[in-house]
Amino acid sequence: MSVEERVGAIVQRTQPAVQRRAMAKAITLLESTRPDHRAQADEMLTALLPHTGRAFRLGISGVPGVGKSTFIEALGLHLIAQGLRVAVLAIDPSSTVSGGSILGDKTRMEQLSMQESAYIRPSPSSGTLGGVAEKTRESLLVCEAAGYDVVIVETVGVGQSETAVQGMTDMFCVLQLPNAGDDLQAIKKGVMELADLVVINKADIDPHAATRAQAQITSSLRLLSMHGNPEHAHHDAALWQPRVITLSALKSEGVDDFWAAVSEFRQLQTANGRLAARRERQALAWMWERIDYGLKQAFRQHPGVRALLPQMQADVASGRIAASTAARNLLAAQAG
Ligand code: GDP
Repeated sequence: MSVEERVGAIVQRTQPAVQRRAMAKAITLLESTRPDHRAQADEMLTALLPHTGRAFRLGISGVPGVGKSTFIEALGLHLIAQGLRVAVLAIDPSSTVSGGSILGDKTRMEQLSMQESAYIRPSPSSGTLGGVAEKTRESLLVCEAAGYDVVIVETVGVGQSETAVQGMTDMFCVLQLPNAGDDLQAIKKGVMELADLVVINKADIDPHAATRAQAQITSSLRLLSMHGNPEHAHHDAALWQPRVITLSALKSEGVDDFWAAVSEFRQLQTANGRLAARRERQALAWMWERIDYGLKQAFRQHPGVRALLPQMQADVASGRIAASTAARNLLAAQAG
């Protein structure tokens, strides 16, 4: 299939089965490591790009067991009932380390996956986190070109994957259990600072605990905002103040409140220009991240560097040469 044919099959809306197959093939192409596939994939992305950008990109994170898949299923069904189309992508950091999977099993979101208006794609199953994030970001563009209204990017609340998801979405939500110890962990890890919205899930189990957690996290967020992230700039009423809401994904209670908060955020951020600015910043940061990665790869593969590296590493490790001197020597080896 030529690139034009594939792009045509993705952007058309009249043949859902054809579109779905074309999307799956396109994403497989993006995930391929073969250089000739990469060239085709880049050509395809360039052709798709004019059709992208109209979806809302929603990041969802939380520890295993917090209820992410239950919540995404409830939310997805809620949105489909409103006539929207929903795509779900995932970044599973465990797959990049062990080839295993925290997120990836196929039985998740069973009801949602049966809907014609839903597209669910598991995490790319190997590579560095940066590589997996790159594939997911590109897959997101494929989903947008196919006319999905909401693209959800899910990740597990461990390590750097949350920063990666926050860096590719319009709004980043953190799911929490109604349990104070848990909240403190998240705040310590700095995840809360990334959150535009915090969701206390499983409120059905103990509504009082959920309300307590809500109050506690709300005041922690206020504290954070005093020292905090200029992105949120909480003192300015024209900007968004991160919210904390409680819900039960299992009973599908509070999902409408959640979506109302998301819609309010979207409207506000569109009106004040922050949404466009965020996307611009994300695209540039992404470009530089990949440049840094590419340069480092090229550096490590350079014959001069490879020849010198073992000696330099040994010398630095044994204290015969300063680390910065070794770095300069190696950089000179690449240049020479
Ligand atoms: P994930 O690992 O974050 O994707 O979590 P799951 O969605 O798989 O949920 C983990 C467990 O918590 C499952 O047994 C769910 O049925 C349960 N669960 C999820 N949401 C709720 C909720 O709102 N209330 C209650 N009581 N259980 C929930």
